[in-house]
Amino acid sequence: MRRPARPLALAALALAVAATAACGDDTPPPPAPSTRVPSYIEPPLPSGAVVAQTQSAPPPVAPDCGDPTASLRPNGIRSGPNIDAIRARGRLLVGLDPGSNLFSFRDPTTGTLAGFDVDIAKELARDLLGDPAAIEYRILSSADREKALVEHTVDVVVKTMTINCQRRQTVTFSTSYLQAHQRVLTVRDSGIAGLTDLAGKRVCVASGTTSLDLIRRQQPAASVLTVPGWADCLVVLQQRQVDAVSTDDTVLAGLAEQDPATEVVGPNLSTEQYGIGISKGSDDLVRFVNGTLERIRADGTWDRLYQRWLVSELGTAAIPPAPRYQD
Ligand code: GLU
Repeated sequence: MRRPARPLALAALALAVAATAACGDDTPPPPAPSTRVPSYIEPPLPSGAVVAQTQSAPPPVAPDCGDPTASLRPNGIRSGPNIDAIRARGRLLVGLDPGSNLFSFRDPTTGTLAGFDVDIAKELARDLLGDPAAIEYRILSSADREKALVEHTVDVVVKTMTINCQRRQTVTFSTSYLQAHQRVLTVRDSGIAGLTDLAGKRVCVASGTTSLDLIRRQQPAASVLTVPGWADCLVVLQQRQVDAVSTDDTVLAGLAEQDPATEVVGPNLSTEQYGIGISKGSDDLVRFVNGTLERIRADGTWDRLYQRWLVSELGTAAIPPAPRYQD
């Protein structure tokens, strides 16, 4: 995971200054005091970071689509145009973010992708192709997820993706496979105890997320820094370039685990039902994916994955969300 490089940069600078000082007669005179390197160096923001306009209007609320989590019922049919195309290719194209601790991240010992979302994708590949490893990962930021599905550059998105009416205008979803709640992450003893304390403070959120929409709607007095990925938010919090990060408790738990100086605070601000994102018009694949989710809820796999990745950070009470069907 990315960590701030400031101590290293300062050490390198000190070495360079020491080397220059040891160069004998050719050594240029030391810089005048006014041009000396300041003792505090403001670290650069992560690439793609944008200080959002505080006064920008929240996005319009999408038209009501009924229960957005209601999906297509599995029918046991194991073929169809989209399923057959994946089988003919021999690999499932899965869009996710490799910097999301607990969900999809590079295992430092093996270098391979691991986490709850990765294992959900593997269960799908197991059922579709008979091989949990028959996956080609495509790296996606939060903001890229719907576009990747619309343009068919992936078969599925498995990336802490909330099902909602706005997204259902352009893509479709499996049934819910995990429930999360938006909360706030801050550094310990910051005095910030929740959303209300973010008025006049700077908050980091990833662009293209439900988390950004919620902050704009519910705390318009916060100043917002948007970044491409949640790992970037941990970096800017550690560098004290923001006062807090706000997104799903699941994602925040992954950040908090990486830095014990941070803590998740305040009440739940929303309910986020995670679905596997699928291109519109892929009904055969939607029913198949929902069949896999039925299997893993019933055969103990979901519990095993929850225990493996999430229980120590999120608590013991979780059960898989009950599927809801529209037909
Ligand atoms: N669940 C939220 C969303 O889908 C935030 C998580 C993420 O960006 O991966 O927008």
